[in-house]
Amino acid sequence: MDRVNVAIVGAGAAGLSLAHRLERGLPGRSVALVDTAEPALRPLERTWCFWEPAAGEWDAAVDRRWHALSVVGPDGTRWRSPTDPLVYKMVRSPVFEALVRSGLDRTRLVVATVLDVVDGRGGAVLRLRGGDGREAGLAADLVFDSRPPRGFPANAVTLRQHFRGWFVRTTEPRFDTSAAVLMDLRVPQPPRGVAFGYVLPFSPHTALVEYTEFTREVLDDAGYEAALRDYTGRVLGLGGLTVSAVEQGVIPMTSARLPVRTGRRVFRIGTAGGATRPSTGYTFTGVQRQTRQIAAALAAGRPPGPSRAHPRRHLFMDAVLLRGLDDGMIDGAEFFASLFSGNPLPRLLRFLDGTTTPLEDLSIGATTPVGAMLSALRSQTLAGTRPRRRAGGLGRFT
Ligand SMILES: Cc1cc2nc3c(=O)[nH]c(=O)nc-3n(C[C@H](O)[C@H](O)[C@H](O)COP(=O)(O)OP(=O)(O)OC[C@H]3O[C@@H](n4cnc5c(N)ncnc54)[C@H](O)[C@@H]3O)c2cc1C
Repeated sequence: MDRVNVAIVGAGAAGLSLAHRLERGLPGRSVALVDTAEPALRPLERTWCFWEPAAGEWDAAVDRRWHALSVVGPDGTRWRSPTDPLVYKMVRSPVFEALVRSGLDRTRLVVATVLDVVDGRGGAVLRLRGGDGREAGLAADLVFDSRPPRGFPANAVTLRQHFRGWFVRTTEPRFDTSAAVLMDLRVPQPPRGVAFGYVLPFSPHTALVEYTEFTREVLDDAGYEAALRDYTGRVLGLGGLTVSAVEQGVIPMTSARLPVRTGRRVFRIGTAGGATRPSTGYTFTGVQRQTRQIAAALAAGRPPGPSRAHPRRHLFMDAVLLRGLDDGMIDGAEFFASLFSGNPLPRLLRFLDGTTTPLEDLSIGATTPVGAMLSALRSQTLAGTRPRRRAGGLGRFT
């Protein structure tokens, strides 16, 4: 059986980021990057947005930058703020993938579906199915697995961040390119959770306009189309437009603590390894933090775990929010409007990146509807003490 020092399962955001770091940072060790060719398992093309200082390591793949963000409340009040010293950046997944792959000279690229990963004393073994249907094994000293999670514990709150976006071209110049719209809460709100519009303006005539919900169930085609027509027409008043492409996705937002280490030699990375920030769905930055920690540990000859993409206290605060949204105790639109109206945007961005101090966290908490948050806190604390069992049937998430 073939053997490598490190096997990375999945060549999405996390697998590619880790392969990129190990290519440079682990001389003398063999690394394999295994990804499936099965269309049902492959992620669709997507845009990744994130914020960081002006100069960043993925700048060669960055397609757009914004130096200001706005949020629009349910009543139309608009809060606009510079992001300085940070910049909101957008990367297109095919460009990121091409950039990383072009630098992978030493990494062995394996096209196969991983059927399972068996942990063992002398090494882990990946059972693979190639394009011709034949099965083979690959042994590895360490495995980093980014296959999407299949389910979450039933006592966790798990919402879906689900959305569809249109890449539009309008007849008239309608977009202000100086600021991306992070949340436009003027859309009709679901009974539980929250719904909002999201706009990435590329030029006065072109933008990615999305309709997003944080709720339990996804919509059907007709539901997304109706929501986008309402948002682009009634709310934004875009007038005549053509749609050149569509982006759609589902991101799990869960209070479950996803185990990073699942065996002696097996670790999870990416969304599967808890890199997704539960309250927002943003994952790209968490993936970078996580893969940087792993690469540094391996380069220093240390065991890689436990690498947490987000601080525990922020995960707890997010769990309370998810519980409150899911139980209907927190009015989602009111919550996010008060969060953005009551805090300097750069502080909120740092909070979402896990770099605020406990004192800053408290001051952010004080700007939210405190009574509703306390009820959600009580409910989440009680739920956390109930026995755990696995939830099934959650379907594919990414
Ligand atoms: C449409 C969309 C837009 C998003 N936008 C943002 C954003 O703007 N900012 C942000 O921070 N986050 C965003 N996210 C969330 C997150 O960044 C992405 O989901 C990200 O792709 C997660 O990276 P990952 O590596 O964990 O998973 P994926 O990128 O899904 O990678 C998983 C990999 O595993 C492979 N795989 C699956 N099964 C097997 C198998 N059995 N054998 C071998 N390989 C397998 C797949 O082919 C894939 O390459 C978005 C998500 C979606 C869906």
